[in-house]
Amino acid sequence: MTATIPWSKENLPKKLFINNEYVESKNSKKLESRSPKDDSLIANDIPLAGEEDVDAAVAAAGEAFKTWRKTTAKQRRDCLMKLADLIDANAKPLAELTRLSLGAPWSTFGSFEIALAAEGFRYFAGWCDKFTGESYPQEDGFLKIVRNEPLGVCAGILPWNGPLGNVGMKAGPALATGNTFILKPSEKTPFSALALGTLIKEAGFPPGVFQIVTGDGSTGALIASHMKVHKVSFTGSTGTGRRIQEMAAKSNLKRVTLELGGKSPAVVFDDADLDNAVAWCANAITTNTGQVCFAASRVYVQEGIYDKFVEGYKAAMEKKGKGVGDPDSLETLMGPVVDKSQHERVMGFIERGKTQGKLLTGGYAVGEKGFYIQPTVFEGTADDAEITKEEIFGPVAVLNKFKTEEEIIEKANDTYYGLMAGVFTQDINKALRFATDVDAGMVGINAISMAFLSAPFGGTKMSGLGRENAIDALRMYTDRKTVFINMVKQ
Ligand code: NAD
Repeated sequence: MTATIPWSKENLPKKLFINNEYVESKNSKKLESRSPKDDSLIANDIPLAGEEDVDAAVAAAGEAFKTWRKTTAKQRRDCLMKLADLIDANAKPLAELTRLSLGAPWSTFGSFEIALAAEGFRYFAGWCDKFTGESYPQEDGFLKIVRNEPLGVCAGILPWNGPLGNVGMKAGPALATGNTFILKPSEKTPFSALALGTLIKEAGFPPGVFQIVTGDGSTGALIASHMKVHKVSFTGSTGTGRRIQEMAAKSNLKRVTLELGGKSPAVVFDDADLDNAVAWCANAITTNTGQVCFAASRVYVQEGIYDKFVEGYKAAMEKKGKGVGDPDSLETLMGPVVDKSQHERVMGFIERGKTQGKLLTGGYAVGEKGFYIQPTVFEGTADDAEITKEEIFGPVAVLNKFKTEEEIIEKANDTYYGLMAGVFTQDINKALRFATDVDAGMVGINAISMAFLSAPFGGTKMSGLGRENAIDALRMYTDRKTVFINMVKQ
């Protein structure tokens, strides 16, 4: 299969994708996109879908649902598999379109998130004929059949930190189970998602089944409060997630999945393999320039190994720092943060952090232009300090010492978030005690900040609601229907 998208940075996709066609937005308002490399203008005529556009997408999706829900599992599987193959075949140009406004180097996050999108579609394609219902015996005179029914028109509202990576995780299970789907990418990173339209059509999806509307929060709000949208799967900040749940409740009680923020603890015990712990902790806060929901942003190290860990972690972070630079250079490991406002936000935390803990390394912006930040670690921060508590969403970690297992469970759980935790130790009993007691949706043992399509992904507390990936995602896009047959001889 060869690359087929006509889109590139010289020919950006700038139309909505509705009913398998690229169409002009009916809204005169437009979005602007700027390069995180130097704040230069990429485009200022990206469609901002308004009410008429969202209504058109929902109407087309509603119409398409009538037939798509009745297609065979094989038909749905073939479309999803073909889309996955097309994404792989177009990986380079798609990544270019993401990287333009995200600033991720191709060698690290740039290629990874395209592969994740393709694998997401492939993984859920495999489920099409396996997510069967059940039947229950008829000893009481009634045979019960339980069916997994699609919900109808579903939508995915995306953040900017994984513009395509998230798409397979949302659209994959929605389409596999017979729903139709509307994708709303982040206003900060719209291009690669918009480019998918060409591939959706080529993959054989009928008109209206998979559509893309770009816009900002106002477009997201139109979707979340729409009376004919039956499900929203949202990934983004906790504040927006709360608003989406309110809008869902106030409109048609649509189903909601929320994948929100985090402040994930990595806990390193005295008996840990030091090099392994250092490597995971450093990678986990610098991948995608720390703009990762499950980044290991709180590191706790037991007192016996603390000094050695500090030495190794500082060196590892400084090595990462040497790889900060132009995301188009092959040597670069860490690109800029996504834009000016994110840069100001992260640098604000760093400046205020200088009075909340001892700066171990980093603490400054890199270069004269663009939004680069040196990987930064603060030591000895109070439990209630802003940088210990708040999600920063940049390459900034806090590092603290602990004495006992009991103490560290308290500290790890002292957060409103509960997305991920990691524990580093050679003692499997201690690791499993920690995994049991920590309040998080995902726990890594001798690893952290990692996820799998085949295992549930999501958080507890204010990190979210529901789960993505695995069979859980299929459950989130279906409702159960009980059909019963009177077997009593009439
Ligand atoms: P955000 O909440 O600002 O925006 C996310 C999306 O919501 C965008 O598409 C935006 O247009 C839309 N939106 C904004 N206001 C809206 C409203 N009122 N109604 C409906 N939609 C609205 O988040 P962001 O800054 O793009 O992403 C960063 C956040 O996402 C971080 O908190 C991060 O932790 C979180 N995140 C979570 C996960 C996860 O799986 N748990 C993954 C990635 C990112």
